[in-house]
Amino acid sequence: MTFKAEYIWIDGTEPTAKLRSKTKIMPGSPSSDVAELPIWGFDGSSTNQAEGHASDRVLKPVFTCPDPIRGGDDILVLCEVFHIDMTPHETNTRAELRPVAEQFAGQEPIFGIEQEYTFFDGHRPLGFPEGGFPAAQGGYYCGVGADEIFGREIVEKHLDNCLKAGLAISGINAEVMPGQWEFQVGPVSPLEVSDHLWIARWLLYRTAEDFNVSATLDPKPVKGDWNGAGAHTNFSTKAMREGYEAIITAAESLGEGSKPMDHVKNYGAGIDDRLTGLHETAPWNEYSYGVSNRGASVRIPWQVEQDQKGYIEDRRPNANVDPYVVTRLIVDTCCTALEK
Ligand code: ADP
Ligand code: MN
Ligand code: MN
Ligand code: MN
Ligand code: MN
Repeated sequence: MTFKAEYIWIDGTEPTAKLRSKTKIMPGSPSSDVAELPIWGFDGSSTNQAEGHASDRVLKPVFTCPDPIRGGDDILVLCEVFHIDMTPHETNTRAELRPVAEQFAGQEPIFGIEQEYTFFDGHRPLGFPEGGFPAAQGGYYCGVGADEIFGREIVEKHLDNCLKAGLAISGINAEVMPGQWEFQVGPVSPLEVSDHLWIARWLLYRTAEDFNVSATLDPKPVKGDWNGAGAHTNFSTKAMREGYEAIITAAESLGEGSKPMDHVKNYGAGIDDRLTGLHETAPWNEYSYGVSNRGASVRIPWQVEQDQKGYIEDRRPNANVDPYVVTRLIVDTCCTALEK
């Protein structure tokens, strides 16, 4: 008996990494324990992760789940990339998150990430007429009906695939621009939300492929008066889930000293194109936070002020952000401040 394992990894494409994958046929039946899956190799010179003369790179399994595309016993295997001496590759941002997540695990940080994305049919977003524009924004967000909704059959299939894989997906909605959608992952721990989000992204591309549609995380897929695509990052620690003082400490900490720029410059390529101050964003170079405010960098949801506990929403990350990076930065900044 054999099964198929789809080994998935994050490459070295600049400025935004891409997902790659290849299939390994394995004997027996799969283990749900990732530590029992073998390491594998690949040609790093074809993924911007090596020069041609010494191009072998190592794939080390770090997360596995059922493969909802192939079904049966087949599995998906998310990997970290290493050099052959088993030092983490420069593109391996998960390796940088691991020690930070461990250091602050006692504060029980959890994240819910809202992944926005846009479907494309060739060169134009799904729902955009050839050579022109659809009706202006207003009716599409959480809409219903063939005049407002484009790609729902793909979105439903993707949601089912994420659920079959056992990912912590928590919802979906149609977004402000035609062909634009969102799914949410979490709230779960920093490594979990990031691993699950990368697999959910892979499943999004793979599911849409069968419909001859591409999905993009481009933060500003249509220039002009159209909403960009973000990845609002919702965050809490145990103390924040128990009291308001910790909520304020976390929101303040993100505004201190060089923190706003340290964060924003790592929140996804092209962030200044999206964080203009228009279209429900705050300007990229001014930090602000506020209750209910969708024009602030960080929003404290209305319900959180009401309950005097809960979580904060960092609205700045682009759709193309690396979740290993945004969760590391937020845990580092907020948990350091909360520790004091
Ligand atoms: P909105 O579109 O109004 O900003 P969503 O419902 O799309 O809100 O997303 C809210 C996110 O907040 C979800 O991903 C959810 O998992 C996350 N969330 C809820 N409670 C917490 C919490 N205590 N800590 C971290 N994230 C949370
Ligand atoms: Mn070959
Ligand atoms: Mn949302
Ligand atoms: Mn949204
Ligand atoms: Mn949001």
